[in-house]
Amino acid sequence: MTLINPYNFVQLESEEPDRSGYTGRYFLQDNHYSGKLKCTLEALSPLISIDQTGKEEQVKGFLRNSYNEPILQGTSIKGMVRAVYEAMTDSCLALAVTDGTSKKGSTNIKKYAYSDLGKYSNRECNSLKNLCPACRIFGVINGDSLNCQGKVAFSDAVLIGNKLCLQLKYLKELSNPKPHHYATYGENGQKGGRIAGRKFYYQQGANPEYSIGKNKATQRTIAIKECAPVGSAFSFQVSVDNLTDVELGTLLLALELHVGLGHKIGLGKAIGLGSCCIKVDRENSTITTPKERYTNWSSVKTDG
Ligand SMILES: [Zn+2]
Repeated sequence: MTLINPYNFVQLESEEPDRSGYTGRYFLQDNHYSGKLKCTLEALSPLISIDQTGKEEQVKGFLRNSYNEPILQGTSIKGMVRAVYEAMTDSCLALAVTDGTSKKGSTNIKKYAYSDLGKYSNRECNSLKNLCPACRIFGVINGDSLNCQGKVAFSDAVLIGNKLCLQLKYLKELSNPKPHHYATYGENGQKGGRIAGRKFYYQQGANPEYSIGKNKATQRTIAIKECAPVGSAFSFQVSVDNLTDVELGTLLLALELHVGLGHKIGLGKAIGLGSCCIKVDRENSTITTPKERYTNWSSVKTDG
């Protein structure tokens, strides 16, 4: 039987990311865009956002805000969109780790080591004059020397209609990443070279088999009492500050993927959970330029 991984890698493209052209955050220039994008995130497969605060609880609930509304955290959505933006713009790999340890089975600890990412390393984005496209708009923190806040901010996404699917489920085992497996994680399947690239999960359809019977549950099994079913929608906003036209256009492409593609958020991506798509509500989004204070995307008037 061939084991098919639930993910694959997007190879690194060029010799190095383009680290020119940061236009700042507060110095508002002509032909730069600021404002708010009103967005909806729709579940294409069941979606779970676990409340990590209830660590002692055996059966996990959905994360909620102070109004008791089920939410997806803005930081999770930002990370998910950033990963796509990084791939689209051949940016540095903000989260890649090239050496460390990983688990083989439940107890066996394996060391792994890949060659340094070189110019693709996040460390190379080390001054405002030297930022890759993703760091320019999503921000970067580099030791004590650089703290660049970024030009986009994501709000938490609130479930519209407040309806979760209430059902006790035991999740299939969520295996840990296995970067010690060079044939999968190494470029050209090789040991000692670069990592294979940027990791993305496949779409597994609307109804993945993600749960097991109670009799098969072990101590490691995660039990959940609620999830957001297929078709449920969450509402959130993206604030943008002084983006160039290329940055704004690329951000929109990273938010709204082609039909048939999906983002992945929350728990259980490897077992098919958390597929979703984002739509930008252009009628209710407002984008401003310094020159023309309020610019409409559509014919709808703004309240400026
Ligand atoms: Zn970077």
